[in-house]
Amino acid sequence: MRDCSTWRDYMKRNSLTTLPENLAQKLPNLVELYLHSNNIVVVPEAIGSLVKLQCLDLSDNALEIVCPEIGRLRALRHLRLANNQLQVLPPDLGQSRELQYVYVDNNINLKGLLSYLYNKVIGCSGCGAPIQVSEVKLLSFSSGPPTIFLPAEVKAMWTEHDHVLPLQELAMRSLYHTYHSFLKDLNFLSPISLPRSLLELLHCPLGHCHRCSEPMFTIVYPKLFPLRETPMAGLHQGRTTVSFVAYCCSTQCLQTFDLLS
Ligand SMILES: [Zn+2]
Repeated sequence: MRDCSTWRDYMKRNSLTTLPENLAQKLPNLVELYLHSNNIVVVPEAIGSLVKLQCLDLSDNALEIVCPEIGRLRALRHLRLANNQLQVLPPDLGQSRELQYVYVDNNINLKGLLSYLYNKVIGCSGCGAPIQVSEVKLLSFSSGPPTIFLPAEVKAMWTEHDHVLPLQELAMRSLYHTYHSFLKDLNFLSPISLPRSLLELLHCPLGHCHRCSEPMFTIVYPKLFPLRETPMAGLHQGRTTVSFVAYCCSTQCLQTFDLLS
């Protein structure tokens, strides 16, 4: 397809460090986007507007994070993120049923795979190499030896002992349900009635509960499933230190979530 060849030509210069913000306006019908072997550090949120995108290859770049919008590409079937610097994946990545193939091999700091990826074809060899504690910048948690990094948008972790949510989280969830359920339109809230930063958060939660799909805004209850303790361990020769991580919204979901639920 012509659009793709345009991008392939550009890619050969090996000079891309980011993508244009108006990507979707320029290439609204893009189905495949091959951007491997560049120096891309940031993928713009505008990637979420490529609603027809089925294949996205960002292998061999310099990505440390991928924006949550990639997880919201409903047509995406193939996602290639191998050989980057990823520490975390967006909490909703893999929620889409269309997404079937996810390759994150050789991201040595990546120790957590989203629970949504459990039933998909994943490549994760070379992930989870030990790193020094001094390098840790993001919130992390562990239940035993593996330590998992959490996305930067997660402001706090709650555990099975924390039955009451923080006030801001309670307020955001209440607002979301009030306006989403009854008015069907979050635009009803103007920046006058809510600070702009909170309004943006309300429009775009940090993720959704892997158990019940409740939106979460500032906190999560993480739950770890070491890959070596799952039936999939055999596929990875039992050597991996990577875990599946589920983000839950409450102590109840934390207790009841299972990888196959
Ligand atoms: Zn939940």
